[in-house]
Amino acid sequence: MELEKTYFLNGKINEECGVFGIYNASDAASLTYFGLHALQHRGQEAAGIASSDGEKVRCYKGKGLITEVFNPQIIDTLTGNNAIGHVRYSTEGGNEIENVQPLMVRAHTGHFAVVHNGQVVNAHELKMQMENEGSIFQGSSDSEVLIHLIQKEVGSFSEKIKKACNKLEGAFAFIILTKDCLYAIRDKNGLRPLSIAKLDEGYCLSSETCAFEIVNAKFIRDVEPGEVVKISKEGLSFFKYTEYTQNKMCAMEYIYFARPDSNIDGINVHTARRISGQVLAKLEDHEGDIVIGVPDSSLSAAIGYSEASGLPYEIGLIKNRYVGRTFIQPTQKQRERGVRMKLSAVKSIVSGKRVFMIDDSIVRGTTSKRIVQLLKEAGAKEVHVRIGSPAITHPCFYGVDTSTYDELISSRLNVDELCAFIGADSLKFLTIQQLEEAFKTKNLCTSCFSGHYVTNLFSLQDKLIK
Ligand code: SF4
Repeated sequence: MELEKTYFLNGKINEECGVFGIYNASDAASLTYFGLHALQHRGQEAAGIASSDGEKVRCYKGKGLITEVFNPQIIDTLTGNNAIGHVRYSTEGGNEIENVQPLMVRAHTGHFAVVHNGQVVNAHELKMQMENEGSIFQGSSDSEVLIHLIQKEVGSFSEKIKKACNKLEGAFAFIILTKDCLYAIRDKNGLRPLSIAKLDEGYCLSSETCAFEIVNAKFIRDVEPGEVVKISKEGLSFFKYTEYTQNKMCAMEYIYFARPDSNIDGINVHTARRISGQVLAKLEDHEGDIVIGVPDSSLSAAIGYSEASGLPYEIGLIKNRYVGRTFIQPTQKQRERGVRMKLSAVKSIVSGKRVFMIDDSIVRGTTSKRIVQLLKEAGAKEVHVRIGSPAITHPCFYGVDTSTYDELISSRLNVDELCAFIGADSLKFLTIQQLEEAFKTKNLCTSCFSGHYVTNLFSLQDKLIK
């Protein structure tokens, strides 16, 4: 688990959620627990599981890590062969318990539960419209909008999903559990990942393929943009909720969010990061002695940089894995102490050296500044910071917690100014073109680097005014 993503409520960006589902396994809730464990890096604030025994949908959820929310006794109460689960890092909607997922619907037409990764960008408009028509929302999460849309539509459950999804804009990977079926839906731009795998006599769905390994499921394929997967006793079936699709996978999934052992759209995350490090090294015009990576998500890029530059790869920063969320503190001083507790520079490695320090991204700049300071205090002669992504200059509205310019230092400072701010001897980023070259695909969302958004932003557009 990449626990550094937790310290980083102050310095890094956070993915909002991970979703997981199991169809037709005798220990569905227990397997979902293990699947969510593998997705814990995608959200550490809350977790939940809903299960179905063919008659009744049951749900348990709470705030905290998956191991804090669940124990074997609770898992035993979640009976049935089908289950879905969710890990959450809350931004849109806040962290009230009403927004913790799965969201449950107990309607006379049937019970169902929903989990969601992403952000519906027209949720506000749809909610206002439905409230004016008499709908009452339980929480403030954008995910609840899908539930109300489904309930308002007529036809079979599949038809209702199709009509409801056609009204949604933005990023979503939904899994829906009814008493006897599982549905999975990916937005028409393919912004958030969702894959499907075979599991003995059943099936498995996950935000990331790394969770398939832990339950011994065999990857089948990614759910396509605009596609609905239905799993029932008749087996697996697919239909499109729209034909107007494109593939704009979030580039940050490869750069930072996803686990290195996951594959997204057929590209292994570790390999993508490693090649981005190689591309960075080809841009080099400075001399150095060693290459180090900021653990853990930048280590693959640092390996690639070392390979292409011929400089030795060293462990120059050590992460203390036992600093938990307790150390996420509200004040700047406490946060600075938190980073010192979290990362240590290895004096004997970096002292007297010209160090190339590879990191995946810079958000607020404060974390990079503290790491450069740690390395210099440990005796590094020069610290050249190389970033395996373009500068993040614009907010994300697709399920990542950078939704204001204030949070993004690259929206205010150019590369030279930022280099001076973090105290580095030089600073370089990849360009969008170099990133596409590294990942060998142009099927990427790069909105937060370019400001060219994949969708209409509706009222969220107001946040673009600096
Ligand atoms: S704007 Fe950036 S973080 Fe958001 S989906 Fe696009 S690439 Fe990912």
